[in-house]
Amino acid sequence: MKPPKIRPQRLFIVTNLCLAFASLGLVGAETPGALVFRAGAATSNITPAIGADPKIHTSRPPATHVHDELHARSLVLDDGQAKLAFVVCDLRHISAEVAEGAKRIIEKMTGIPPQCVVISATHTHTSGCAKLEQREGEPYYDYSAFLTRRIAEGVLRAHNQLEPAQVAWGVAEEPTQVFNRRWFLVPGSRTVYGAHDNIEQVDTNPGYKGLLRPAGPVDPQITFLSVRAASGKPISLMASYGLHYVGGVTENTISADYFAIFADRVGELLGADRHQDPPFVGIMANGTSGDVNNLERYSDEELAKRGPQPKKRYEPFEKAREVAHLCADKVMAAHKTLKWHDHVKLTSLQRTLTFERRYPTKEEVEWAQSVKAKRIKPMGTSRYSTYSTVLAYASPEMPPTLDVIVQTHRIGDLAVAAMPFEVFAEIGLELKQRSPIRPLMNISIANGSHGYLPTPAQHKLGGYETWIGVNKVQLDASVKMVDALVEMLGELHKEKP
Ligand SMILES: [Zn+2]
Repeated sequence: MKPPKIRPQRLFIVTNLCLAFASLGLVGAETPGALVFRAGAATSNITPAIGADPKIHTSRPPATHVHDELHARSLVLDDGQAKLAFVVCDLRHISAEVAEGAKRIIEKMTGIPPQCVVISATHTHTSGCAKLEQREGEPYYDYSAFLTRRIAEGVLRAHNQLEPAQVAWGVAEEPTQVFNRRWFLVPGSRTVYGAHDNIEQVDTNPGYKGLLRPAGPVDPQITFLSVRAASGKPISLMASYGLHYVGGVTENTISADYFAIFADRVGELLGADRHQDPPFVGIMANGTSGDVNNLERYSDEELAKRGPQPKKRYEPFEKAREVAHLCADKVMAAHKTLKWHDHVKLTSLQRTLTFERRYPTKEEVEWAQSVKAKRIKPMGTSRYSTYSTVLAYASPEMPPTLDVIVQTHRIGDLAVAAMPFEVFAEIGLELKQRSPIRPLMNISIANGSHGYLPTPAQHKLGGYETWIGVNKVQLDASVKMVDALVEMLGELHKEKP
């Protein structure tokens, strides 16, 4: 299918409209020259095909039911000179190839260059296992092609709907729904075995008893950007929160998790009419949540202080709804005090970082070879199932480096850092602390996935996220990435707003 051509006539009308608004004096006093700020938003349905046998992991998603459709949610901003597009997809991961392919189509159809397009995944775990990273070129290719096209079309439609807009941003907090999932255990309670029979210092998702203290922090902030038409009609609200996902859905069911419920709820609270034209688009991106989930865990000491807790049993989807509504309420409270801007400048920077890939240690290779020799069947225990991963990473055939894209964007005095990986919360917090532009919105699993990203200190502690295979890059990759992003934010900071 060929992309629809943008008719020159249409371009002419758009240009004329801008001039008309400028001469009518509808442009804000702070507008430099006659530039009009515009925004447009749209959603594309990206639900994959269903009907595969849930017991057989074929190239098709092992799903037999759709609870709610998956979407690519797009927001396009235009300051009259530069444009910026955000796409947040209801997917567990976003493949770098799909993102790159979509950006090529987007540039052709709208003229927005790839460095001004962010394509990220929410990390919903019920996206029908739409994990495309390792499946490129396989039968799954069908879905990749469909997804690429649908993402690009969403941006085109948002771009078609650009209208004069006001913009504002803010920060809310919801500290009660984020829990670091890596824990030090009470000494003597039990031993934590790692992926390669080694003993580790922290355990991921360790149960609820015998916990000493979490191994890292959480980021309770919900950073958000809001755009509305001059009439007050809400166009879109995009937020970011550092929560892995919520879950608690029925088996073999496709769902966009709490991210989509938030998107819907925030529109409701903003008073967006379901039938308004064009429809309101809510968006919830994943902040930095590599080590943060929604399971309420406390240390033994804290549990003793809290006393016996009533254990609530949740119905399917009930918890996701609860978290989404709490977040939407917090955002709405902050939304009341926003300062609206008639015009802000958009600037974007992109860099490609080359990381050395992760190599297994000598001990890990020896362990993997011994497991292979013993013909231990990779069972439920992930310790033995990782031996083939270790051997794959020991192979000289694996490419020695991995290129990843990082981006920074400036929307007036709001900055956005877009990075791949499932990034640990403390990395996002460091970025926020070192950013010369504040607030900073972090968007992870953006423009590619590439596994977990712990800090060097967390690598030393061990635990699931640090294992080779789920972590694919050199152990100090997070330091290099943060330094690069802070430098880029510094460059954006020097620009006149
Ligand atoms: Zn994850």
